[in-house]
Amino acid sequence: MALGEFDLIARFFTRPVRRAVLGVGDDCALLQPTPGMQLAVSSDMLVEGRHFVSTVPPERLGHKALAVNLSDLAACGAQPLAFTLALALPRADEAFLAPLSRGLLALADEHDIELVGGDTTAGPLTLCITVFGEVPPGQALRRDGARPGDGVWVSHPPGSGLGDARLGLEALRGRVVLSGEGFEQARRAMEMPQPRVALGLALRGVATSAIDLSDGLTGDLGHVLARSGVGATIDADALPTSAALAAQPLALRRECTLAGGDDYELAFTAPAAHAQRVLVAASSAGCAATRIGRIEAAPGLRIVDARGAAVAATFPAFDHFKT
Ligand code: ADP
Ligand code: MG
Repeated sequence: MALGEFDLIARFFTRPVRRAVLGVGDDCALLQPTPGMQLAVSSDMLVEGRHFVSTVPPERLGHKALAVNLSDLAACGAQPLAFTLALALPRADEAFLAPLSRGLLALADEHDIELVGGDTTAGPLTLCITVFGEVPPGQALRRDGARPGDGVWVSHPPGSGLGDARLGLEALRGRVVLSGEGFEQARRAMEMPQPRVALGLALRGVATSAIDLSDGLTGDLGHVLARSGVGATIDADALPTSAALAAQPLALRRECTLAGGDDYELAFTAPAAHAQRVLVAASSAGCAATRIGRIEAAPGLRIVDARGAAVAATFPAFDHFKT
């Protein structure tokens, strides 16, 4: 028997409410944020063929759809509360929906948040999630707080770095050949990003600005510089990399770390006097943080190598309507 719209919502996307006042099944969900807190809200959409390839395992797709949204809350230093899911599906296929929902709800459980509603329609495979989080007034990490003299930092997995998601994409495209283990690691980076929620919370009061890396470091950092009215110099050789990426030719390494996209790490700034607090925040959050440069008054992003020589790197930020 074919699975109908309401059967599939009930089977795959409905669980007993926990913190919400009202969840899936009514016209609206009702949330009760902690009194006095500000709501942090963000949406991110994943479109097949645009943000993911059709061969991605559905469980990982469910994970990634929520992970990229949680990454935005992380970049604001917000505590996640709940999310909604708007889903367009070519067909109501149980063999696809069961693992999709499993991957999605497993990450939700990890962050103790719940799915409170959404919309389901037939159409080209698209997942649009809206996340709701909360943050004390005035404490959200924003893009406009970087000041000259601040250090520029990136988070990364301990022992690894930026650019692996892009490396995985290039391997899928056949542009690079990786060993079995190197490929699995890069593919995992691309398909299973780990949102830095704990780091975002730990950086409240420590970082002066933050952004999550979705479109590539140089482009995303450029947004912080523009919003803050400052510039920066970063050291391309200071960017942390995995062993698999470190083994690649320099040009590819630079492209992946500086402009790779899909990292879902945090780039943030902090006064020099807070360096130790940044390292404590990262280790308490189970990740690493590396200082890659400094904020300067002169506008623009300057990229140098370890010897201080300019790196000719003009990678455009990813833009859906230009690339
Ligand atoms: P409405 O007609 O009021 O828009 P729907 O019939 O679209 O409501 O959805 C019925 C209920 O199921 C609503 O509570 C809605 O929030 C929820 N819902 C629909 N799709 C999803 C989904 N993909 N995940 C979670 N909840 C969903
Ligand atoms: Mg509806």
